[in-house]
Amino acid sequence: MTEIADGTGFDIVIVGGGIVGLSLANELINSDFSVAVIERSELKDIAEDAGDEEVSCRVSAINRSALKRFQHSGVLRSPLARRVCVFEKMFVWDQTGAGQIQFDSAELGVSELGILVENNVLQQMLLDRIKPADNITYLCPEEITGIDYMPDEQRQDEGKQTVSSISLASGKKIQATLLVGADGVDSKVREVAAIQRTKQSYQQQGLVCNVSTSEKHRNTAWQCFMPSGPLAFLPLFNGQSSIVWSLDEKAALQAMALDDDDFKLALAEASEFRLGEILTLGQRFLFPLSHGHASEYVKPGLALIGDAAHNIHPLAGQGANLGIADAFVLSDVIQCARKAHRRWAALHTLSKYQRQRKGANQLMEVSMTGFKHLFGEANPVLSEIRNAGLSLVDHVPALKYRIIRQALGH
Ligand SMILES: Cc1cc2nc3c(=O)[nH]c(=O)nc-3n(C[C@H](O)[C@H](O)[C@H](O)COP(=O)(O)OP(=O)(O)OC[C@H]3O[C@@H](n4cnc5c(N)ncnc54)[C@H](O)[C@@H]3O)c2cc1C
Repeated sequence: MTEIADGTGFDIVIVGGGIVGLSLANELINSDFSVAVIERSELKDIAEDAGDEEVSCRVSAINRSALKRFQHSGVLRSPLARRVCVFEKMFVWDQTGAGQIQFDSAELGVSELGILVENNVLQQMLLDRIKPADNITYLCPEEITGIDYMPDEQRQDEGKQTVSSISLASGKKIQATLLVGADGVDSKVREVAAIQRTKQSYQQQGLVCNVSTSEKHRNTAWQCFMPSGPLAFLPLFNGQSSIVWSLDEKAALQAMALDDDDFKLALAEASEFRLGEILTLGQRFLFPLSHGHASEYVKPGLALIGDAAHNIHPLAGQGANLGIADAFVLSDVIQCARKAHRRWAALHTLSKYQRQRKGANQLMEVSMTGFKHLFGEANPVLSEIRNAGLSLVDHVPALKYRIIRQALGH
């Protein structure tokens, strides 16, 4: 691990080296800022020639908007980019009726709708750029044990910036002019800043695993809505699909308890055999599903991004995308303020980031919860409405493109 002297001061300390924290660090490479990233878990190295069968089941659909920015900054020039799967189509249908809708990149005049990538592969590609950067110090494995956060109003009035003091598990202390919480749902940074957060469980679990199917995925993201919850088949680079199946707590435990053959059959039946039979099955994992939002994203000298600020139902695969967009906007706002010689970590500057992101994130949270209830409803009248709705949208190009533009991150 990189050695630092006790008491080192950084312009920016990012707590959390997940996809979102690393996306921010990547944006700050070659900036005027000195940056430290603190991450407690070491990422297992992925060899460039790792076998195609060793695919992680935690994958994310990254939208076009984030993809373009990653391409621009060179993240996808990595040899690991061979493990990225471009998806060109999205097919959504309602299991209880005839409603369906298809989105096609060709119809939209774009080359892809997005990419599917293993979370650890994206992290590794970001890290390969961040680690050699002169202005970034990557501290891992390292953990924060305490944060002395002092939103000093008097200093702010005098035009000085607030400075936080961070104690590390290694026994050292570091200072930050801007402390960024990218430390996930149970954010310690949010806690020490005494920022409230709503948290509501969906009383559901997301069952994830990788499968191979008798029919090819055709670079299409398949999603089926059923009363028990949505089921997605997301295309992977090795021809397999990553499934995310949202199930009520009891049904999730039952699905986990099935032997492989019975689970394969249950999965194929739930997906109405759209991809044929399930041939092989990876290990199954469960993730509790919840949604929540921080009451505020910023304080003087402090900002929350990604799941530390908000998390949503994974049904539209937007959680990481929203967090990555937070990272891009925060980076733009502080770099712009610094270039203009303004107080870049002051509340009035950071509030610009909050203004640009909070409304969009809240809208997505409300939409996902609404979708979940609409499609989770067994009521036959609602079922008819949503079936008619899906097919109607499919035939109204203007409406269809509006929806897809949002999913693409435009
Ligand atoms: C089943 C499922 C499927 C999903 N699919 C998609 C999808 O297709 N597309 C999409 O956009 N989103 C998806 N999401 C959501 C997405 O995974 C998350 O929104 C995203 O990973 C959040 O990233 P993050 O970096 O904010 O947080 P995290 O990934 O939680 O990262 C936080 C990091 O901080 C570190 N950390 C925490 N505390 C400390 C500490 N005290 N000191 C040091 N380090 C610390 C942790 O080790 C971790 O590495 C899905 C979610 C689920 C549950």
